[in-house]
Amino acid sequence: MALKIMILGANGFIGSALTGAILERRSGWEVYGIDLSDNKLGDLPKNDRFHFVEGDITINREWVEYHVKKCDVVVPLVAIANPAQYVTHPLRVFELDFEANVEVVRHCVKYGKRLLFPSTSEIYGMSPDSVLDEETSPLVYGPINKQRWIYAACKQLLDRVIYAYGVRDNLDYTLFRPFNFIGPNLDNPEEPKEGSSRVFTQFLSNVLYRRPIKLVDGGSQKRSFTYIDDAIECLLTIIENQDGRASRRIFNIGNPGNCISIRDLAQRTIRIAQEFPVLRENARAIEIVDVSAGEYYGKYYQDIQVRIPNIEAARRDLGWAPSTDMDTAIRRTIDFYVKQEGFGGRVAALTAI
Ligand code: UDP
Repeated sequence: MALKIMILGANGFIGSALTGAILERRSGWEVYGIDLSDNKLGDLPKNDRFHFVEGDITINREWVEYHVKKCDVVVPLVAIANPAQYVTHPLRVFELDFEANVEVVRHCVKYGKRLLFPSTSEIYGMSPDSVLDEETSPLVYGPINKQRWIYAACKQLLDRVIYAYGVRDNLDYTLFRPFNFIGPNLDNPEEPKEGSSRVFTQFLSNVLYRRPIKLVDGGSQKRSFTYIDDAIECLLTIIENQDGRASRRIFNIGNPGNCISIRDLAQRTIRIAQEFPVLRENARAIEIVDVSAGEYYGKYYQDIQVRIPNIEAARRDLGWAPSTDMDTAIRRTIDFYVKQEGFGGRVAALTAI
């Protein structure tokens, strides 16, 4: 099957992994990508099925519309998806995650294109359900003065808008909900500013810099960490959309088998980092300390205590199940960074800071 796939944010964590997998494993598919830079795409072998332009979707709007028209499937992955930024830049989240994306959604409606849109596990908020279900779980957020929820609210409204376009205009879409994807290229562990990455990269970064790992409010809150390769497998099946099995559907993409506490994640990261000689000394020296949510994120933050996906829909209708356990996910990610050129020298320099 020949397909032209447009990936907005092709250089992001999911975008770069998806682009790489398509080029490697789907010989009939072409990718048209746009992103602000291409640093995560540098390792991909040159391929004439990959057309990339460096640009900003909020500026290069004609390019975006033209390519929606030209492609078969549109995957808009440009968004701020990092809780540290929901509380510091809530309006940027609204402008980019909601306003810029609703425009792309409307292009898909106008040109009758299939849309594969990232919803989020965050959409369930503080849902009382112990296992979160796409069709039945309530979506529960805190008060307006807890600005963290602006991201979930933007995504919820987009889900509702897309759903409504499906009902009224027959828009062909799939909404997918990532549950704490981790893997190479999530955030940058060498980023010096603490608190700017999502939790796993932050902990790895703390090891590199030999800084104490901070557990927010004791670290008993739980997440279901999902290795990126498992997630990409699911996305490829959704793009293929054999017999329309993913059309007008919502799928949680997560690994309930990897539901662990943040404290457990810290301990595993320290243990597994010691398997790598270049990190051993740093990892042995790391302390784990407690910090309050207010101290770490400020007053606009509110946490989610547990987040476990029901993945029956993906299992049953897409034939998908995750297979990468927690320790393997951590080990593979660390291995990726350790193998980067000049890594050892940079760690030695960081530790000296
Ligand atoms: N967290 C932590 N220490 C850190 C960074 C994050 O304890 O240095 C906690 C955070 O409060 C949250 C969890 O780790 O409960 C996951 O945070 P992340 O930013 O990865 O995203 P979330 O799963 O909340 O969307």
